[in-house]
Amino acid sequence: MAGSADFDLYRPSEEHDMLRDAIRSLAEAKIAPYAAVVDEESRFPQEALEALVAGDLHAIHVPEEYGGAGADALATVIVIEEVARVCASSSLIPAVNKLGSLPVILSGSEDLKKKYMAPLAKGDAMFSYALSEPDAGSDAAGMKTKAVRDGDHYVLNGVKRWITNAGVSEYYTVMAVTDPTKRSKGISAFVVEKSDEGVSFGAPEKKLGIKGSPTREVYLDNVRIPADRMIGEEGTGFATAMKTLDHTRITIAAQALGIAQGALDYAKGYVQERKQFGKPIGDFQGIQFMLADMAMKIEAARALTYQAAAKSERVAAGGGEGDLTFQGAAAKCFASDVAMEVTTDAVQLLGGYGYTRDYPVERMMRDAKITQIYEGTNQVQRVVMARNLP
Ligand SMILES: Cc1cc2nc3c(=O)[nH]c(=O)nc-3n(C[C@H](O)[C@H](O)[C@H](O)COP(=O)(O)OP(=O)(O)OC[C@H]3O[C@@H](n4cnc5c(N)ncnc54)[C@H](O)[C@@H]3O)c2cc1C
Repeated sequence: MAGSADFDLYRPSEEHDMLRDAIRSLAEAKIAPYAAVVDEESRFPQEALEALVAGDLHAIHVPEEYGGAGADALATVIVIEEVARVCASSSLIPAVNKLGSLPVILSGSEDLKKKYMAPLAKGDAMFSYALSEPDAGSDAAGMKTKAVRDGDHYVLNGVKRWITNAGVSEYYTVMAVTDPTKRSKGISAFVVEKSDEGVSFGAPEKKLGIKGSPTREVYLDNVRIPADRMIGEEGTGFATAMKTLDHTRITIAAQALGIAQGALDYAKGYVQERKQFGKPIGDFQGIQFMLADMAMKIEAARALTYQAAAKSERVAAGGGEGDLTFQGAAAKCFASDVAMEVTTDAVQLLGGYGYTRDYPVERMMRDAKITQIYEGTNQVQRVVMARNLP
């Protein structure tokens, strides 16, 4: 699998190109056929999970020493981008596996890494990330979930909201308050298992898009876990959560990029087929200019996303934080705005047909919207960028 030395700055290597070809074929053959139905039925894309696990593409970021493929950040971006090109819901399988497990990879003990990365890499378990709460979204440090030490254990109580893949995932990185007097420095991170006594889930949210990706509340009711399930030192959980987002916002940029590319590819074909005024609508300059703008924006988003991925890889390899915080926020913010614009234009290019579920661009436009909201809204990304100007 591609390593960090294999690509210069943000140019994909030959190995990355081969990976893209492989994942594109898999996505078109095994994931695309179910994209409309998982949306229509709001059901988990089990076929996508099975295809990704069979291709060892469900969590390729897991390092080799813990049984994973050890793919670099750009390879992970390419997998997510290509899956999102056909089904945004399915792309949350590799994306959230990285989001949920990265706190353990970045800050966890060797024992935690050994215990939890192997089942993830094998495809026996998925990982979710539980930061948000009903009253703590953009202001995540305002969380109320508590973890109280009791001998060799911690006891967790609280409600986590909007948790992607909740109920499907076996493992959850849960951020909880261990010292209420210290705000963000009084928050710690833990691994919670679905099978821990006292863990339960709310009803799936009824969403605008990514309907195939289950989003549910996670209830923690006197969940008693061994103290060694804490990720890093007490009080470092919020810092780990933010460090994680620096890397994983790039995966949301990849998802946005894939959705936008899927919409452009579909619209490009459609305008050659659809005839009005005696010729294909693609012959009109007004249509050509729209397609040119869509492609231009996607290329700019791709360059920013791959550059951020290269930065993420260098930081993961010990290269210092540098401006990763800015780069991750910029890639996510820019690519998600592009995805919204491009998918809206794709619906426009299909006219009335674009507005119906008979064509995929309607789903893509609904799916694009979430990329401007999660892992921090785009207003929050601008706050982050403004605080970390290069
Ligand atoms: C489908 C879905 C999946 C999700 N998955 C996960 C997950 O797996 N794990 C997880 O932990 N969370 C997850 N989230 C939560 C997500 O990250 C939050 O919804 C998001 O951070 C925004 O929080 P909020 O919804 O409470 O909005 P609020 O924080 O209430 O924001 C409302 C509005 O106010 C704006 N705003 C807030 N503060 C400022 C400010 N300082 N300046 C300018 N504008 C501001 C926001 O941008 C937004 O427009 C998910 C959410 C959704 C919808």
